[in-house]
Amino acid sequence: MPQSAKQQWPKTNLGFFPTPFHELPNLSALYPENRVFIKRDDLTGLATGGNKTRKLEYLIGDALTRGANTIITAGAQQSNHCRQTAAACAMKGLKCHLLLGGQEPETYTGNLLLSHLLGANIHFTGENRKGEGIQAFMDKLRQAGDNPYEVPYGGSNLTGAMGFVEAAGELQLQLKEHDIRIDYIFFASSSGAMQAGLMLGMELYGLEAVLMPINIDKEELADHKLENHMQALCQEGKARLALKDPDKPVTMPLIHDFDKAGYGVVTENETDAIRQLARHEGIILDPVYTARAYYGMMHYLGSGLLKKQANVLFWHTGGIPATLHYTEDLTRLQA
Ligand SMILES: *Cc1c(COP(=O)(O)O)cnc(C)c1O
Repeated sequence: MPQSAKQQWPKTNLGFFPTPFHELPNLSALYPENRVFIKRDDLTGLATGGNKTRKLEYLIGDALTRGANTIITAGAQQSNHCRQTAAACAMKGLKCHLLLGGQEPETYTGNLLLSHLLGANIHFTGENRKGEGIQAFMDKLRQAGDNPYEVPYGGSNLTGAMGFVEAAGELQLQLKEHDIRIDYIFFASSSGAMQAGLMLGMELYGLEAVLMPINIDKEELADHKLENHMQALCQEGKARLALKDPDKPVTMPLIHDFDKAGYGVVTENETDAIRQLARHEGIILDPVYTARAYYGMMHYLGSGLLKKQANVLFWHTGGIPATLHYTEDLTRLQA
């Protein structure tokens, strides 16, 4: 990262970087028009890994700089973000409060189980799964003498996005080392900071590729909420990173074709995706995010819609514990 960015956004190390970048040879053979590559953010290391590790390096870095002793964040019960936040807090000696949607289940599985094992204080918040009650909770913690720090839903503010600004530089270096050009980057987009960070980082580091973000949560579509949020992150980020034309709206890619079933609903699309990558390459996808995004990529790989001889990258963003939660849906997976 440039020196000015390092000064603005202090960082703490939480994972193993760079994450591996490699070809998927059996998929390249399956789709002979293309070569298919993968970026392994499922291997960041933070309590089974995932893309939130990158954001948390900056968010927890900020919290520590401000002298916080308690982190509070929110999400769904199977939130990968909350599980990685709980792990980061354990590493840094911080207290952790998670506000999770829904009612307390009888047994804890997947990410919820891991968040519990990692020592997080878990609060079940019914209808709310996007941090609606955080402010009131922060006030209570302050009254009790804590110095709490809010990590927003999905870790998706500009501070969190810095993790993916840095990731774009990391990938750029790996492409140089391997002397490979990437034409398209497929990934799951949901709370927005991964995408906004990548867009900023690609500009900062001169990484050229077409982003193919697959929208996951159709609720985020209402009034273009996600697009507007990412737009704001990009404009603020451009100004603070001293990039060109900070006020000019950026063209915001977001592919809406695969979110119709709703958030966390596992359909044949997701099971097709899991089956293909597992059985050709021995790599596991999660059914909520990465399988939906991978299915989007499968659709494009088979369609003739990509330019000829394109090199395609799938950015694996983690989520493995959720795979071990959706047991009924995934037991039905056939050969
Ligand atoms: C959070 C998450 C994403 C989406 O990243 P955002 O920055 O929220 O858009 C994708 N995949 C997995 C597995 C995630 O946990």
